Amino acid sequence: MISLRDIRKVYLSDNSRVDAIRGVSLEIGEGEICGIIGFSGAGKSTLVRCINLLENPTSGKIFVGNQELTALSPKELREARKNIGMIFQHFNLMQSKTVSKNIAYPLKGSGLSKEQIKKRVSELLELVGLSDKANNYPTQLSGGQKQRVAIARALANNPKVLLCDEATSALDPQTTQSILSLLKDINKKLGLTIVIITHEMHVVKEICDNVAVMENGNIVEHGDLIQIFTKP
Ligand code: ADP
Ligand code: ADP
Repeated sequence: MISLRDIRKVYLSDNSRVDAIRGVSLEIGEGEICGIIGFSGAGKSTLVRCINLLENPTSGKIFVGNQELTALSPKELREARKNIGMIFQHFNLMQSKTVSKNIAYPLKGSGLSKEQIKKRVSELLELVGLSDKANNYPTQLSGGQKQRVAIARALANNPKVLLCDEATSALDPQTTQSILSLLKDINKKLGLTIVIITHEMHVVKEICDNVAVMENGNIVEHGDLIQIFTKP
């Protein structure tokens, strides 16, 4: 579903150069939950932001589905990005909009009628278990509820892929559990491919099929959980 081929990312400024990604190739299968772990600064966030071209790689090719994203025009890329949802550590919700409006936002300009958008938003609210919070504002929600709203918003356009950048790092252990089971649920129900960046080993052990370990801009290990965690 996702294929990264020899990705490099160099951040250049006047007097410094950071080689954030140093030639990474990675294949992630359809319906797979792939964890990316590593210390802070290893390049996890940069790599995952390359998958939807939020970050433009310095070189290398990125395929999602059968499409090479790195070969698309800006207009084609905007369309292709609808296949890739993303959630973040700090949720990134619009504070001045209700839960429903936040979730409906990505459906603007989709050609759906008001009625169809309403219907889609209620389906999404139900999927994440927040039907009773439709008219609340983000400030009235707990961290876990905010992340559920962010998940619903990320899924609005029915993406094939969900990218999660430290999505549980701001949550307490119990809330983390409930978000992880929601993600697992969605993975099973919708066949969604999920990429999870985390520095928390238990998150990976809990729900990932495969894991890639990053160090200093490289993937130093990649395989299934048993393979990675039983190495001498
Ligand atoms: P991780 O997600 O594993 O913590 P990052 O991908 O955030 O790692 O960062 C990898 C390296 O790239 C770090 O050295 C970081 O400081 C650097 N970096 C990330 N984003 C930028 C940027 N926009 N400009 C310059 N350097 C950056
Ligand atoms: P995270 O903890 O999620 O990896 P960071 O604090 O590393 O986030 O980075 C937050 C933002 O700052 C990101 O957009 C990243 O690209 C940018 N960033 C990280 N390191 C640098 C850097 N050395 N110079 C400029 N921007 C950076």
